[in-house]
Amino acid sequence: MSTEPVRLIYVTGYGRSGSTVVDHVIARSLGVVSGGELTNVFAWAAEERECACAQPVAVCPVWGEAISAARRASQLSLTELARITRTAEIDRDEGASSAWRVAWSAFFADLSERGFTTVVDSSKSAGGRDRVRLLAECDHVEITLVVHLIRDPRAVVFSRRRGNNLALERGTAGENKTIGVVKAIVGWWRANALADRQRTLHRSVVWRYEEFVGDPDGHTDHLARLVPDRGARRTREQTAHAVAGNRLARSDWDGAIRLDDEWASEISRPWRILGGLLSALRRRT
Ligand SMILES: [Zn+2]
Repeated sequence: MSTEPVRLIYVTGYGRSGSTVVDHVIARSLGVVSGGELTNVFAWAAEERECACAQPVAVCPVWGEAISAARRASQLSLTELARITRTAEIDRDEGASSAWRVAWSAFFADLSERGFTTVVDSSKSAGGRDRVRLLAECDHVEITLVVHLIRDPRAVVFSRRRGNNLALERGTAGENKTIGVVKAIVGWWRANALADRQRTLHRSVVWRYEEFVGDPDGHTDHLARLVPDRGARRTREQTAHAVAGNRLARSDWDGAIRLDDEWASEISRPWRILGGLLSALRRRT
């Protein structure tokens, strides 16, 4: 029985930054579990949604027993666990934070006992989500590396103008586009500012999505040197177990990594200029 804490590689930054692909590529190259947006594991179990392994999250061979352990330790239902996770991480509610610690400690203790030594968690920091702060104080888990993923804001704007992931899946993308784009720009700035602060407290790297796409092996080789294999058992799991994230990208993903730079020719001039300015401002930080 392992007593080592689960080592977490935490992908932070804004959504729509290619984190689903990055999560998967990191996990595959290191031979560890791809967790996706692990923050949503209780919500997805409550809603009877599927893990990337095609099993319902609640009975997935990786997450199922850990979810049960969290329920036993906290005496909370899946819906309550989803709620306290959200309110602790986003609203910074103190009462919820105590329950969060009980539940997530049990969750990671169970993963550790079953030999899942390293997990990629790409829950990010959009919406002011500061999961990193809670994880740093949680038992049975340690933040081994923070990967701050930054995508060109013009690509984020373009993605937002196409509609959100669920709307894309339903084929009903596209209302209130301007409001959506302004929200995306503000959200992008805020999430990256929070990620900057998270980085100062942990070992970290900054990956620009566009550079990652140009040299994924170089990026993962560097990461492998920062996350040495302690000789602990690596997971035997070769199947992806990402929770939530960009399901459209995942379901038809063939393993190839693309730049997806349609935005360069598709977005209108004002957004392109604003996005370029923001991008230049961030590069100075
Ligand atoms: Zn699974």
